[in-house]
Amino acid sequence: MELVVVVGSFGLIFLMYALRDLFFEMLFRLLFKLFFPIIRVISRDYSRWDKLPSLAEYLAHHEECKTNNGISCATCNSKSIKNWGLKGANDAFRIFICNHCDTDLYKK
Ligand SMILES: [Zn+2]
Repeated sequence: MELVVVVGSFGLIFLMYALRDLFFEMLFRLLFKLFFPIIRVISRDYSRWDKLPSLAEYLAHHEECKTNNGISCATCNSKSIKNWGLKGANDAFRIFICNHCDTDLYKK
């Protein structure tokens, strides 16, 4: 009778061990599936901001865009430029976009 209990206990411990591996594998797969797209989206948005020039670099590249009454778009010459937050209105990562042709101009 004691032998049955001992073997049963070992069997139970083994089963819990096997299920623990399965549980962690499922947990990691779930986390990976959940977080990988989020990280990918964040890094894609960030690279949009990162690859833009600063205002000084933009003006150094497009001298004609520095006018007496503001900055103009290098693509369409429009002076209507919106100050856009990367993820939302209050985002510290700012992108300046032309209102007329939607071109990303520079960052802040
Ligand atoms: Zn434009």
